[in-house]
Amino acid sequence: MLISAHSNPVRSFPRQLSAKPPQQAPTEQAPGPVSDSIELSAAPSPQAKHDSAPAAMAATGGAIGGAMGQAFKLLMMGPPGSGKSTQGKVVAAERGIPHISTGSLLRAEVEAGTELGKEIDGYMSRGEMVPDEIVATVLKKRLEQDDTKDGYVLDGFPRTMPQLPTYDEMFPEGMSVIAIDVADDEIRRRLLARGRKDDTPEVIERRIQVYKEETAPLVAEFERRGVLTRVDGNGSVDETRERVREAIQD
Ligand code: AMP
Repeated sequence: MLISAHSNPVRSFPRQLSAKPPQQAPTEQAPGPVSDSIELSAAPSPQAKHDSAPAAMAATGGAIGGAMGQAFKLLMMGPPGSGKSTQGKVVAAERGIPHISTGSLLRAEVEAGTELGKEIDGYMSRGEMVPDEIVATVLKKRLEQDDTKDGYVLDGFPRTMPQLPTYDEMFPEGMSVIAIDVADDEIRRRLLARGRKDDTPEVIERRIQVYKEETAPLVAEFERRGVLTRVDGNGSVDETRERVREAIQD
């Protein structure tokens, strides 16, 4: 068994996966690129938010999704190549909610060829983080769409500790988190096989390093808050899918 019954908020998800017929999840893409001007409301200081968020989590018993008309919100985390997007899309499709990936939203912006897209492309093609303001603006715009009202599977945000205050501000009730663990060698093998634009050997190493330095502390923080379930993602897509299902249903 992956998790203890008492410590895992994901367990409070209702057993609905098989009750609802699979359907096509709405697309994760934004309807169009965001404008080139970035406006963000000032976020509270990282420390203030950092301290208050766990208390808020404890008060709500962690983030719960899907029960009695509540929106189902799940955050997928994991290193590049962990299958977090593949698995997140499956969960979203089964529940008929959108899969919202910041990586995909940013790539859409690049493909649109806007000035902002060109700036984003510079960071992404080096395997570096895109500036927080840009990511938050693109994500906020996507979350304003109507299809998010029943919930969503979020993928790719937050990705760094400095993004945590913005996350806490955007999602005051928080949400359950699944982190998919995969060994570094398996990550390398998968990404080289995938061959996306940012999947060259040098960029892969950089992204693995960036994940360890910048995202892993966030995984630890969600673990500390008691909202995170780890899932072994070293096996096949089907094996991981079953583990993710167990984590949500149990
Ligand atoms: P992914 O599709 O999740 O692998 O993300 C691809 C790339 O998008 C990352 O390597 C980053 O350059 C960028 N990216 C995605 N999400 C974020 C985020 N929350 N903060 C900064 N950069 C991001």
